[in-house]
Amino acid sequence: MKKRVDLANFDIKFVGLNLGKHDFQFKIDSEFISKFQDTLIEKLDLTLNFTLDKQTESLYLLDFNFTGSIELECDRCLQDFSYPVKQNNRLILKVENAQDNLNDDMIFISSNDIKINIAEYIYEFVSLIVPMKKTCELISKQCDKEMLKLLNNYSIQSGNNIHKPEEEWNMLKN
Ligand SMILES: [Zn+2]
Repeated sequence: MKKRVDLANFDIKFVGLNLGKHDFQFKIDSEFISKFQDTLIEKLDLTLNFTLDKQTESLYLLDFNFTGSIELECDRCLQDFSYPVKQNNRLILKVENAQDNLNDDMIFISSNDIKINIAEYIYEFVSLIVPMKKTCELISKQCDKEMLKLLNNYSIQSGNNIHKPEEEWNMLKN
């Protein structure tokens, strides 16, 4: 993973810490996500419980525990819904001059570094929360039937009336 955005609040100083676990808490909201340009998420309200586990002077485990909700738009009926979030991610931080690192779960830093900024990692993990198919079914809710009817009528009126209604339905579903 490459770091692109620097948000000073998300600097974690690891030099000088005692061995063991160190807990931090961050609020991940719309303001945070607005700092990133290519996001699919607009509204979110997440709490990040972040634990830095210093195992040795050169090995750290970084645990990201996200809870809260993000707002998604249903692919089918276009209604917004609140999607509950519970996600854990782990990164391993090594103080080592390693090159050619292709492992996404590992960060290598030089022995001159005293802190790491985790904003970009948080962004990457939050982006992973968004499911490929975003429908009301995710929260066991029925799609808005009136809206589906409207959308169906609209696509027929806008010149796609060569399709049969069932085909329209399938296209909407997809
Ligand atoms: Zn829906």
